[in-house]
Amino acid sequence: MTAYERSRIMLRFADLLEKHTGEVAKLETWDNGKPYEQAAKIEIPMVVRMFRYYAGWADKIHGFTVPADGQHHVQTLHEPYGVCGLIIPWNFPLLLYSWKVGPALACGNTVVLKTAEQTPLSAIYVSKLFHEAGLPPGVLNVVSGFGPTAGAALSSHMDVNKLSFTGSTATGKIVLALAAKSNLKPVTLELGGKSPFIVCKDADVDKAVELAHSALFFNQGQCCCAGSRTLVHESVYDEFVEKAKARALKRVVGDPFKTGIEQGPQIDNEQFKKILKYIRSGIESGATLESGGEQFGSKGYYIQPTVFSNVQDDMLIAKDEIFGPVQSISKFKDLEEVVQRANASSYGLAAGVFTQNIETANTLTRALRVGTVWINCYDIFDAAVPFGGFKMSGQGREKGIYGLSSYLQVKAVVTPLKNPAWL
Ligand code: NAD
Repeated sequence: MTAYERSRIMLRFADLLEKHTGEVAKLETWDNGKPYEQAAKIEIPMVVRMFRYYAGWADKIHGFTVPADGQHHVQTLHEPYGVCGLIIPWNFPLLLYSWKVGPALACGNTVVLKTAEQTPLSAIYVSKLFHEAGLPPGVLNVVSGFGPTAGAALSSHMDVNKLSFTGSTATGKIVLALAAKSNLKPVTLELGGKSPFIVCKDADVDKAVELAHSALFFNQGQCCCAGSRTLVHESVYDEFVEKAKARALKRVVGDPFKTGIEQGPQIDNEQFKKILKYIRSGIESGATLESGGEQFGSKGYYIQPTVFSNVQDDMLIAKDEIFGPVQSISKFKDLEEVVQRANASSYGLAAGVFTQNIETANTLTRALRVGTVWINCYDIFDAAVPFGGFKMSGQGREKGIYGLSSYLQVKAVVTPLKNPAWL
């Protein structure tokens, strides 16, 4: 198939998906518990945009002519890997599907995608739409299965030439080892995080509170890049804590299908229990519980929006990825201290910086060891912006032009310009 035809199929698929936004958003809410409005108004439109973005790339992927030694004509061909194994988690099922399937197909690969065990529905449904859009049989295959069986089989399969995984750091290490032990397939990893959200002394406190709140609580706190360490300058700390608590108390929790709901239930009982355990550990280790701390209501996996202040760096809630609606606030004195503390994590996925001072923004941007710095904003995920982690938050980048290189291998072709030596 020509690249142009691939591009057209992807565009037709994006149109179909847009038409079916309502049904697909419903599937996401059923499976995951996220607010329907969030799925329908934010996530599915982002998925549509992602496929249109990569459809645009499909017929613009090409190699180069390399000057080399002047004696040879050298060209590079950018070729697909063939079969790509894609493994995704449950927190943004269809969005993360698009981050991987979009560039993989645009580059001319075929795909075997494994959904998370908790959220298989949307990927199966939209892959049928992809075939309706004209994708030939066998190009896009969806397997719903368990990690240690289906996921491990994909990671170690000798006929899978490339692996792209999103999930926890612990599982990332397993799939990397399986890939290494089988056919040394290259692996892209998007893993966990414990991202700092830094509120500087010149910040507009009301705006900082609102942004720090959504940076942590969005998607029930189940975001790899959640701003889960809120670090606030001492001069605005007390005011910030008081307002962050008031904001959390106002958060609207409930049935995710109802309008105006900001927070639905956590994904499952396992995560629900794990988050409550972290909250107990925060209380026991001496952090101040400002709001929440318990189950919300008496039915379902709902958790009260929880805010801790006086959080110390050695507490578990400051170190581990909680993956729930638990904001941990602590105080800092100066930039040098906050850089050192922000970087003192095995993760390096993202950071938020809230300041009106360009020098402060520049200093922090360059000092932070993370894959994304959001200045006076957070969770901006346009299809063209690369995303990925430093340190144990991953390897490689997804989205944007950087995301293409994960699904292409380079072949150098060398031809003598004239009179080859052996003639
Ligand atoms: P997980 O690692 O348990 O599961 C992720 C996927 O891996 C699932 O499809 C699962 O079935 C599969 N899997 C599990 N064990 C496997 C094995 N032995 N071999 C192969 N595959 C296996 O993670 P989760 O609990 O589903 O997701 C939450 C985690 O994902 C969090 O830590 C979060 O930070 C991370 N995450 C990262 C990003 C990112 O872009 N960096 C995005 C979303 C989620």
